[in-house]
Amino acid sequence: MKLSFESRRQSISKMQEQILDLLIIGGGITGAGVALQAAASGLQTGLIEMQDFAEGTSSRSTKLVHGGLRYLKQFDVEVVSDTVSERAVVQQIAPHIPKADPMLLPVYDEPGATFSQFRLKVAMDLYDLLAGVNNTPLANKMLTKAEVLEREPDLSPEGLVAGGVYLDYRNNDARLVIENIKRASQDGAFIASRVKAVGLLFDDEGQVIGVEAKDLLNDTTFEIKARVVINTTGPWSDTIRQLDDQHQTAIMRPTKGVHLVVDESVIKVSQPTYFDSGEGDGRMIFVLPRENKTYFGTTDTDYNGDLAHPRVTQEDVDYLLRIVNRRYPKANVTLSDIESSWAGLRPLISGNAASDYNGGNSGKVSDESFNHLIDTVKAYLDGEANRAAVESAVGSLEGSVSEKTLDPSAVSRGSSLELDPNGLLTLAGGKITDYRKMAEGALLKILDILSEQHQLHFRMINSKTYPVSGGEFNPANVDEELETLAELGVRRGLSREDARYLANLYGSNVPKVFNLTNKYPFGHKLSLKDWISLQYSMEEELALTPVDYLLRRTNYILFMREQVDQMVDPVLQTMREYYDWDEATTQKYHDELIATLNENDLKHLK
Ligand code: FAD
Repeated sequence: MKLSFESRRQSISKMQEQILDLLIIGGGITGAGVALQAAASGLQTGLIEMQDFAEGTSSRSTKLVHGGLRYLKQFDVEVVSDTVSERAVVQQIAPHIPKADPMLLPVYDEPGATFSQFRLKVAMDLYDLLAGVNNTPLANKMLTKAEVLEREPDLSPEGLVAGGVYLDYRNNDARLVIENIKRASQDGAFIASRVKAVGLLFDDEGQVIGVEAKDLLNDTTFEIKARVVINTTGPWSDTIRQLDDQHQTAIMRPTKGVHLVVDESVIKVSQPTYFDSGEGDGRMIFVLPRENKTYFGTTDTDYNGDLAHPRVTQEDVDYLLRIVNRRYPKANVTLSDIESSWAGLRPLISGNAASDYNGGNSGKVSDESFNHLIDTVKAYLDGEANRAAVESAVGSLEGSVSEKTLDPSAVSRGSSLELDPNGLLTLAGGKITDYRKMAEGALLKILDILSEQHQLHFRMINSKTYPVSGGEFNPANVDEELETLAELGVRRGLSREDARYLANLYGSNVPKVFNLTNKYPFGHKLSLKDWISLQYSMEEELALTPVDYLLRRTNYILFMREQVDQMVDPVLQTMREYYDWDEATTQKYHDELIATLNENDLKHLK
């Protein structure tokens, strides 16, 4: 089924007519990943999301699919092992989304530095070994100070001693979510955004048997019954658990992270760069090029405010500007340079250090692991041990911390799967990078429950090879495949640049987008590229508002801000015609868009 306003209506109706095998609350990456695997495995699945898909944390990340090199400072091999192997899996199942983009890590000789040259080299070698890219063209390399400055002439030379380059991947977080959701919908899941779980339903024994849901587009409430209900609401996880009064224990400790966007002329970086904050707080900061912009982040502060509207504060801006101006002294970035921004809430599990993978002191130091590995690597560098010995040292590290020895509640490092006494499952924490693995762990549990309690038996698909929507092409040949797809657009009258942009955005679905060129009303204020993309987002991606389209189905508001003002009216009018909005509704969505633009532009601080 195409994911559209009509499919939403049908889904809401079908979810009330039958008992589902599985109901998922929350349409971020965690819920989307579970929906894909459940629907593909034949479960009658429903998913409700109270906002737009990915409107929570899953559109507000650093936008990397990565292994978290920082963890290797403490030789926290298990976290990295999980994430680097998952990184490769995500590239296989969604080949149009994560793109290899090597990361530069400059080493500064300063107090509290995360990596010395030696530690960095060891960490990067280990990272490559775990990722299986050692001895390939993607393997890491060390750079001299001069080589670092040759690549990044604007970086501060003061205290700079060397650098390293290692493989990492850029991501489009919100699109990864929508492509999972679309696949689940194609496979028969009932999916509805703007539907909120407002209460839990219980049987006589106090077991959860469904939810009371509210359609936020017309304020009607209805019941959805399901054999298993899973809570994948990220930072809201405790809110859902606490809908059952008896259960009050909070498991989440959300923290806020902020990213700021400037034009590439303000800070010019040729590749993603990652360095210590230099503030002595143990944090590291990313500076990343995207489109013709540079964005940087993140802060990390405890958060107790409104979960749906985390805000960038003056303090966040001061912190990040201080750091980038220290590292790029010629840039002199000021508040007025900031073109866009976003703030997101990290769904950290209380007491689970591994979920804090971007910085701060996770506190997890294994001296034994560290010393053994370092001794072996030293011996290797001195020619006293061979490669097999290093691999074995790594192997034994992995063995000692393998998933078999994990706390049963952890389905991947930094995440947790909890079954409450009332039968409600909660899957939370983790990272976008390991979403598939988290979903797989949860689905195993769900299949057990269905089998033991309901005598319903399903066979799990192999989610490592099951592509998301748009991902049905050869992942080993991404550039050529996307180029071939783009060629179809050129034949439909698009410029090569526009056709490539769309092929990268939609992957193997792009021929459907190109087919819409037939319907383009020539002379429309939106370009052919934008009109067909908007049309597709309404017909097949359930974009219900201008913000859905301009912020999450595309990245216009974040990385093409200068083009947005002229798109406001044509996008609004096109959506109005498509959805037949009355004057009041049109005005409401106009105001919502302007408020979002003001928020992202940091109007409240300027
Ligand atoms: P969310 O995306 O928040 O989804 C939960 C959803 O539940 C929301 O959409 C919400 O609207 C919905 N919901 C809540 N209550 C209800 C209700 N009552 N009814 C219906 N729906 C409801 N990970 C990486 O792999 N790479 C990175 O580069 C990276 N960078 C990050 C940077 C920052 C600043 C942050 C904060 C996180 C970063 N992460 C990164 C982590 C990653 O973004 C999160 O782990 C992930 O997005 C969490 O997804 P989720 O689906 O669990 O939560």
